Amino acid sequence: MARKILIVEDEVKLMRTVRLYLEQAGYGVVWAEDGQQGLAAFRNEKPALVLLDLNLPGELDGLDVCRTLRRESNVPIIMLTARSEETDRLIGLELGADDYITKPFSPREVVARVRAVLRRVEQPEPGPEIITASDLQIDLSRHSVTVAGQPVELTTSEFELLAALARYPGRAFTRAQLLEQTQGATYEGYERTVDQHIKNLRQKLEADPRQPRYVLTVHGVGYKLTEG
Ligand code: CA
Repeated sequence: MARKILIVEDEVKLMRTVRLYLEQAGYGVVWAEDGQQGLAAFRNEKPALVLLDLNLPGELDGLDVCRTLRRESNVPIIMLTARSEETDRLIGLELGADDYITKPFSPREVVARVRAVLRRVEQPEPGPEIITASDLQIDLSRHSVTVAGQPVELTTSEFELLAALARYPGRAFTRAQLLEQTQGATYEGYERTVDQHIKNLRQKLEADPRQPRYVLTVHGVGYKLTEG
């Protein structure tokens, strides 16, 4: 069965173009034109991924929708944003969105990003199955993480970032390398996305996110996972 993508977007023309390209790429597409409809469609249709416009008409804007989606699920979310919405974009990443695409974009880029995100979710890489660092345990095949035996819920992007670090404990990665590890490609200006995902990860994993024990900053380089 075709993977279903939910597009929450009020610009009908733009939505139609994206829908066409996604359908040609073999995806099923569900469309909602405001936040309320978007949440209803998400609950009814259980899509594999959500493309979420940030600037939506009606009572719920894209950030409200993102916040609610994250309370209910770990579904991959790609935000569609205007250049001027930089602050919103950062808030969106903070709320747990996986990625963003800046308007105007080419529909081909949307398809490529959807594919990349879904590939990450659906095909965990081969390698050691369970990685342990201090009392942090990462099960790569099950996509599960525990801290001192307690399960921690991570979004796809957070998990992939942690898994990339965990495959080489102690090795420092630059932001660009981490982007490449997690997305298979680098995109302009997305290194700050890594910082935000790291911040979210620390909020979830660390007893004191300002004094991280697992995911460490390597000054002048980027990040690494603690050894042992
Ligand atoms: Ca809009």
